[in-house]
Amino acid sequence: MEGKIIYFDHAATTPLKKEVLDEMMPYLTEQYGNPSTIYKLGREAKRAVELARERVAKALNADIQEIYFTSGGTESDNWALKGVAFANRDKGKHIITTTIEHHAVLHPLKYLEGLGFEVTYVPVEPDGIIDPQKIKEAIRNDTILISVMLANNEIGTIQPVKEIAKIAKEKGIVIHTDAVQAVGQIPVDVKDLGVDLLSLSAHKFYGPKGVGALYIKKGTKIHPFSHGGAQERNRRAGTENVAGIVGLGKAIELATQNLSEYAAKLQKLRDKLIDGVLSKIDYVRLNGDRYKRLPNNANFSFEFIEGESLLLMLDMKGIAASSGSACTSGSLDPSHVLLAIGLEHEVAHGSLRITLGEDNTEEDIDYLLEVLPEIVSRLREMSPLYESVKKGG
Ligand code: PMP
Repeated sequence: MEGKIIYFDHAATTPLKKEVLDEMMPYLTEQYGNPSTIYKLGREAKRAVELARERVAKALNADIQEIYFTSGGTESDNWALKGVAFANRDKGKHIITTTIEHHAVLHPLKYLEGLGFEVTYVPVEPDGIIDPQKIKEAIRNDTILISVMLANNEIGTIQPVKEIAKIAKEKGIVIHTDAVQAVGQIPVDVKDLGVDLLSLSAHKFYGPKGVGALYIKKGTKIHPFSHGGAQERNRRAGTENVAGIVGLGKAIELATQNLSEYAAKLQKLRDKLIDGVLSKIDYVRLNGDRYKRLPNNANFSFEFIEGESLLLMLDMKGIAASSGSACTSGSLDPSHVLLAIGLEHEVAHGSLRITLGEDNTEEDIDYLLEVLPEIVSRLREMSPLYESVKKGG
């Protein structure tokens, strides 16, 4: 394995597919027209953007006019939350979300709280799944929006969004889901889910970074994201990231075409990894429900070790993975998700997220299962607490 990097961090980002890059290239070079112009070069760019919109709509079972391109998952989430809050403030100022959302949801909501909106953070069950009944109980007369992610970025748990959307609809409340981790891993059908808004991001399914989309169901009351030109039907102004949008369209088409085969392959590797880790290492727990999770996600907490040291030692062995403090860059604090499912600080500190992708093989899993137990025991040898637990029994 000398020199080879084994990439186990596909929830952070995925490599760009060659077929995707090939479709993007002309729009970074000779096809440089602005889609808002009327001569051939501009019409060509416009056609490419519209083809991408068609592909995204098809992948999500949405109408073409319901797809809006954005700069990624963060922008889609910001737009959905702030746009709905501002457009419906006359109806009420209460929003419901959960304790395990991504910061791209939690931070805009904090901002809205600063403007006088009230947010209820529904706690998650210890298995990492939200109980729809608890969402129902949180609804008030002035609730205008519910936002619950479809799949969690750290522990991979898949949320009962369809049930939650049903509850929201019964009360006439707008429902948004952050599907950034779900698209390309599990089937995502906006009509079947029954959501009004859905966020996605191309770089999570082998597309380019810095481009995403927001599905806005026809008739949803939402403010524009930005003001300026007439792009995105006057709702998001600014010259489009044409090459990025083309890449998004191609990537989502490929991801949905190969979904069941891809998911089955990753799930098999994931299960081999989970079984291997749980049988070879003691004082370990799997975070998140064993089965209601993304096919590519395994998240473990190892007692008596510290996640950053584990990551560095894995890095020295050529393995790229994430810890439980993913997305809190620079901070050694355990993630809010691991604390929300009830882990103690010390245990959450020793967490490891492995997220698999297309290029991973059985050999990669075998290699990880060979080096991980060694690394964990070496780190534990440095822990006085582990030594005393061992002696004690
Ligand atoms: N939501 C979730 C669940 C995510 O995992 C991410 C990416 N880490 C985002 C939103 C933000 O997406 P982007 O990186 O495209 O801004």
